[in-house]
Amino acid sequence: MATALKPDATLTKAVEVAHAALLEQASPDQVGEHLGCVAEGERVVTHLFACTMPGYRGWRWSVTVTRATRQKQATVDEVVLIPGDEAIVAPQWVPYRERIQPGDLSPGDLLPVEDGDPRLVPTYSFGDDDLTADERAQVKAVATELYLGRVRTLSLEGRDLAAQRWYDGEGGPDNPLAQSAPASCTSCGFLVRLAGSLSEMFGVCANGSANDDGKVVSLDHGCGAHSEVQFGKQQLPEPLPEHVFDTLTIDEIERF
Ligand code: SF4
Repeated sequence: MATALKPDATLTKAVEVAHAALLEQASPDQVGEHLGCVAEGERVVTHLFACTMPGYRGWRWSVTVTRATRQKQATVDEVVLIPGDEAIVAPQWVPYRERIQPGDLSPGDLLPVEDGDPRLVPTYSFGDDDLTADERAQVKAVATELYLGRVRTLSLEGRDLAAQRWYDGEGGPDNPLAQSAPASCTSCGFLVRLAGSLSEMFGVCANGSANDDGKVVSLDHGCGAHSEVQFGKQQLPEPLPEHVFDTLTIDEIERF
């Protein structure tokens, strides 16, 4: 276990030196009482002073002093303002790419994928990694002429991530709407089949009256707008009784 560093005795006493250096950077009304000192290293000590500036509650002035071997004269290394335990500090910065959530994009916003994004794989090979930008453009042009399609396509990992996300989401079987549905999408006439391996689990709902119209739904999803749903006897509206002719009094008929 590392032993705590003992503050240098000469530097511990150099409160006035630290205070004077601090007053060269801050006005006297911004500096509060001396809060103590900590050893930073051999013959390196930091003196802490309260900060009394409005809006800096819990912040402290930190003045680091040092001295040369066999010297009694303290010199100042740096003067900085640092947050203490009670300080109000900005939340940790999160990069834009990690902050953005589905649905956050507005018209004109761009969100490029990273070069090594594992959700995508090249559709065809450029052959040589050392190709120049012009040569790569030529390969792309030839690939387009040969109808090789997009430069990159969904990787197996990208496909599995999408399938899991869709299955766990609103279009999956765990949605309360699906759990109380009379039948599943697999038997619904409004289900449009997908192509490829995802078609084994998903389709697209094409019922304009359903909540999921235009969205991917799992085959075991479902809703009350299923194409074959019928009202049961109990859900049918009560039939109205026959009209009654009042033969005893005169009806008041509104005249226009
Ligand atoms: S209407 Fe309902 S049951 Fe039919 S496909 Fe759409 S979500 Fe599935």
